[in-house]
Amino acid sequence: MRILVVEDEKALAELVADRLKRDRYTVDIAGDGEEGLDNALSGMYDLIILDIMLPKRNGIDILKELRKKDSEVKVIMLTAKAELEDRLLGFGSGANDYVPKPFHIDELAARVNAQLNIGKAVDNRLVFGDIELDYRSSKLRCTGSGEEVGMNNKEFQLLEYLMSNHDRILSRELIYDRIWGMDSEAVSNNLEAYMSFVRKKLKITGSRVTIKTIRNMGYSLEYGAEEG
Ligand code: CA
Repeated sequence: MRILVVEDEKALAELVADRLKRDRYTVDIAGDGEEGLDNALSGMYDLIILDIMLPKRNGIDILKELRKKDSEVKVIMLTAKAELEDRLLGFGSGANDYVPKPFHIDELAARVNAQLNIGKAVDNRLVFGDIELDYRSSKLRCTGSGEEVGMNNKEFQLLEYLMSNHDRILSRELIYDRIWGMDSEAVSNNLEAYMSFVRKKLKITGSRVTIKTIRNMGYSLEYGAEEG
């Protein structure tokens, strides 16, 4: 899953990003309000951590603009101004949660996980068809055969994204942006390489989940279908 951190204090933004990456999120940072709003409106994010006091556009403004166009994305507001009226203003504009500064980094991570329903609700596992992806051990397990295999970071993120959007055709561009980011220097044939790694691992476990290639359109994760 992909998270945007809109925060002008660079050291804090990087601290938050590093902590969330440890929980296997893909994290992007925007350092001012304009960049934050542009990125937030891209539709690429599952959750946005939004500071209120920002250069160019403030966080409340960004949240209001965002809610006009996208009601789905989770937003956690972050600010040094911990007064009650700010909290009310934040929730009144459609924030999902509010964390006053200073905060403990693990508490913020816990709140992110709670918003994205990872941990409690699914017991640290993502499930589709006969496979489970384990967030603690980074392993892919086939519930049919009981076989499991370790996944590296990108393989994990790729399969997680496919599982979260199973039976939908996802274009190469969409997948690439989600996993490697818009300004990534990674070359695009990385995607094919990782698709093939993940396919092999699915096969090793004996799963009936397959990644279908939809010609000229992209990929789709399916259960029980013929491989394509
Ligand atoms: Ca700030």
